[in-house]
Amino acid sequence: MYIITCFVIYPVKSEKNMKKYVVIGDPVAHSRSPGMQNAAFAHYGLGRPYDRLLVKAEKFEEFVSFARRELAGFNLTVPHKSLILPYLKTVTPAAAAAGSVNTVTVIDGEFHGDSTDGYGLEMALKRNFGISPAGKRFVFAGCGGAAHATAFHLAEQGAKSIFLANRTVAKAEELAGKLKEFAPETEVETAALNDIPRLQEFFRKADVLIQATSLGLRESDPPPFPLELLEENRELCVYDTIYHETPVQKRAKELDLKYADGMWMLIYQGARSFEIWTGKSAPVEEMLRGFQEDTPCVLY
Ligand code: NAP
Repeated sequence: MYIITCFVIYPVKSEKNMKKYVVIGDPVAHSRSPGMQNAAFAHYGLGRPYDRLLVKAEKFEEFVSFARRELAGFNLTVPHKSLILPYLKTVTPAAAAAGSVNTVTVIDGEFHGDSTDGYGLEMALKRNFGISPAGKRFVFAGCGGAAHATAFHLAEQGAKSIFLANRTVAKAEELAGKLKEFAPETEVETAALNDIPRLQEFFRKADVLIQATSLGLRESDPPPFPLELLEENRELCVYDTIYHETPVQKRAKELDLKYADGMWMLIYQGARSFEIWTGKSAPVEEMLRGFQEDTPCVLY
């Protein structure tokens, strides 16, 4: 951008001095982070400094050197959220326990890591259902990266119970072990996703279901659990981390349950990243607009 005065052209801010930010992943083309982050930066007159960068796992070291020199901050998505851990100078306790970092701030070439997915979920629950994690009982369907990143935050915020149901039960047990160590006050139980009697018990006791499997991303996907389970508890709030309509959301709607898709989680995790980097309050509604106007998204 240039200002023209008396035939002399002055650059308002040289490209060289502009702080740059990226989201890295593989794949990354689907990411809507540039749309929402650039809307936030533009809101404060800070240009549009945020871009996507495809980084293959085998090129991660190269990216690290580049980032130390050139970037002010970056987001990470699959498969990089855990690869960054050995390179961090500081990391927040919940992100360290989860082994998952999605936000890095670069200060004097050093990396400071955080995970904002849990905050994103917390704010989405507040926005969609008007509830806070403290004292609540959660049942997770799925124990992958998203469940890890969010469960520690919910426990940190005083969740009463976290019930973990996963296809690979060993992964649920591993996560449960770490959660118990991290937050001994939170009750943690596990089950296989196909152990229906145990799931019935979890669904009856829970206040909130977090659908955190990747089932539902494709139209041909089966539901992650028999949908009759949603009939066990008419007070259950159903939060699906996927942000287009899935069979779980459709059934929750038919049963007149409180339910929501994953959109606000995505917006608020980005909002928190923006605040960490800039110290400015995130203009959330503008980030939503930026998110909606960005490239069509295939994954989430
Ligand atoms: P991930 O690490 O690959 O984990 C996938 C999870 O889905 C695992 O628990 C896996 O079980 C389960 N799963 C996959 N296929 C299954 C099947 N056929 N039957 C039963 N379970 C199956 O993925 P992630 O990063 O955690 O992402 C999970 C979901 O969260 C995705 O849908 C993603 O879109 C969503 N997400 C949303 C946001 C947001 O901001 N809204 C942020 C992050 C992620 P196993 O352990 O047995 O393989």
